[in-house]
Amino acid sequence: MLEVTSQQPAIDGWFATDDAGKPHLIGSKCPLCGTYVFPPRENNCPNPACSGDVLESVALSRRGKLWSYTENCYAPPPPYPAPDPFEPFAVAAVELATEGLIVLGKVVEGTRAAELKVGMEMELTTLPLFTDDDGVERIVYGWRTAGGDAERSDEEEQR
Ligand SMILES: [Zn+2]
Repeated sequence: MLEVTSQQPAIDGWFATDDAGKPHLIGSKCPLCGTYVFPPRENNCPNPACSGDVLESVALSRRGKLWSYTENCYAPPPPYPAPDPFEPFAVAAVELATEGLIVLGKVVEGTRAAELKVGMEMELTTLPLFTDDDGVERIVYGWRTAGGDAERSDEEEQR
């Protein structure tokens, strides 16, 4: 087992953490027509009716509703990193609350597809993907189920 010396995103620029330690996705928004894009990019608005070619970087909603889900029961083939022994995990497609974008991500360990239901409130989180040869734990964004009053109890904790 490799010793973890630090944490880094597996891919730079797809998510960030705010001052309270809460992660959010980083997307792009077209200033002309308001279309959102994820993963973020700097140009080429995807709206065919829009001629916008410069997209702005924006923080996306931390929450959304479960749009669809499945369970991944087989280890991905190389070069994708997979734990050994492989544990099946759930994958969620979540419709972001404000933007309506559907973002696919791994569901946290311990929550299996059988516990998920379309329409459930989901919340963005981060989870380790693998530890590289230099002991750097590589982090990706993922989803977890959000209790209806989770935001409120978060605020209470800060008081
Ligand atoms: Zn546009």
